Amino acid sequence: HHINICCGTGCRAGGALEVVEELKKIKEKYQLKIKLSTKMTGCHGFCEQGPLMTIDPGHILYCKVQPGDVQEIFDKTLLRGEVIERLLYTDPATGKKIAREGEIPFYQKQTRVLLAQNGTISPISIEDYLAQGGFAALGKALTQFTPESIIAEVKSAGLRGRGGGGFPTGLKWEACRKAQRGQKYLICNADEGDPGCFQDRSILEGNPYSVLEGMIIGAFAMGADTGYIYVRDEYPLAIEHLQQALKQAQSYGFLGENILGSGFSFEIKISRGGGAFVCGEETALISSIEGLSGEPNPRSRPPYPAQKGLWGQPTVINNVKTWAFIPHIIEKGALWFSRQGTEKSKGTMVFSLTGKVHNTGLVEVPMGITLRELIYEIGGGISNNRRFKAVQTGGPAGGCIPEEFLDLNIDYERLAEAGTIMGSGGMIVMDESTCMVDVARYFLSFTMDESCGKCTPCREGGKQMLHVLTRITQGEGTLEDLDFLKHMAQVMKDASLCGLGKMAGNPVLTTMKYFPEEYLSHVRDKK
Ligand code: SF4
Repeated sequence: HHINICCGTGCRAGGALEVVEELKKIKEKYQLKIKLSTKMTGCHGFCEQGPLMTIDPGHILYCKVQPGDVQEIFDKTLLRGEVIERLLYTDPATGKKIAREGEIPFYQKQTRVLLAQNGTISPISIEDYLAQGGFAALGKALTQFTPESIIAEVKSAGLRGRGGGGFPTGLKWEACRKAQRGQKYLICNADEGDPGCFQDRSILEGNPYSVLEGMIIGAFAMGADTGYIYVRDEYPLAIEHLQQALKQAQSYGFLGENILGSGFSFEIKISRGGGAFVCGEETALISSIEGLSGEPNPRSRPPYPAQKGLWGQPTVINNVKTWAFIPHIIEKGALWFSRQGTEKSKGTMVFSLTGKVHNTGLVEVPMGITLRELIYEIGGGISNNRRFKAVQTGGPAGGCIPEEFLDLNIDYERLAEAGTIMGSGGMIVMDESTCMVDVARYFLSFTMDESCGKCTPCREGGKQMLHVLTRITQGEGTLEDLDFLKHMAQVMKDASLCGLGKMAGNPVLTTMKYFPEEYLSHVRDKK
């Protein structure tokens, strides 16, 4: 038998480590009766049901496992082959128990590429990653590709940055490759800070090797010799796993001097961010790595960071997910990648599905899937028999879209047309009980807490908007306040220095556009 236990941050919070301890104790008692191997893996994605345990043969998934369940799992499932009904997932649509992981709609409807190995490898064993095909793409890149042909492959795959902007990755890489400035840098942006977003953390915790492998291939393609992973300090497990992965990769010759005898050298350093949301912005992130205050430092472009970035040198910044896609593209080819998705948004996207749905967690789906499929088929629908009201995508810079968009095919373009953004993949579902003015106020208060205060439109305009929104939620707003909110959101969009201020008004504007009656009723019902 083999058991995988999800030990990502979510399942740890639910008691996964205590389950592991119990498993170790009981395993000793049974060692003569059962041949059993166990593995602590990264996040399996179905966080709602954690701590999760899969048992082979059969790939049975047990949910919400507690230390007190372990004895019974040995006695019944491992010794007698019986399934424990109580620990199985119950489908909210049919009320039926489902034993096999692959038959649960949450997993069945997904296309897991980046998340595929999260539940199967040990994130602290490079040998495990190697045994499942890890670093084969690096070997292929170094022997069968030239730097230019890697960039051509990434371009023809149609990969776009998964951190929010959706800029074509290959074009960025090409600009950096062509820049004639000597030393070049790569940065992995792991400063994930959107409320409700945790996919980058889970990939780093569960499969740090895939990110390293993508960065090494990127460094070879662009001619960079140093890479930084800028990771927020609130992610201690991700940092621990990354540190171990770096040491192991070094000892196997995947990092350092003369990688795998190719003559190419590259090193990766971890740069720990203090958790300021604004440091996810490229210029603030660069300042922070340079040891300066993590404030945006917008300059007129060009030059772009790919031409003049960290310490004035050509620098490519990509999100965790973007780097992690690279080994897959090199191994399976651009065509494989571009076959999934829509005309302009290729491949899969990982979303953090949270809020008022039955199945919250991490989901990976092809671009172009509808919101309805995501929320009702994978998410299992709205909890507590309530009605869907809205979904917030793209974090605090994104927007809330209503029921009429449920059949929208999710990609960069369609979301932008609806007034929101893909962002890093946050998706917060709201039901009929949610007050949309409160939601807008929440997101604006988050952004204003995180504003660096450098420019007046964001610092003062945002503060005024928040003040007015608070007044409205307290029933003391006026119709003029609604005009003021629209006006100020536009001023911030036009005049703020960086994306944080420019997009801070989006949740307010989209909720005002799609739920005007809620704002009006707050104003009309004022005491
Ligand atoms: Fe700072 Fe906000 Fe101005 Fe950006 S827009 S530079 S976060 S004050």
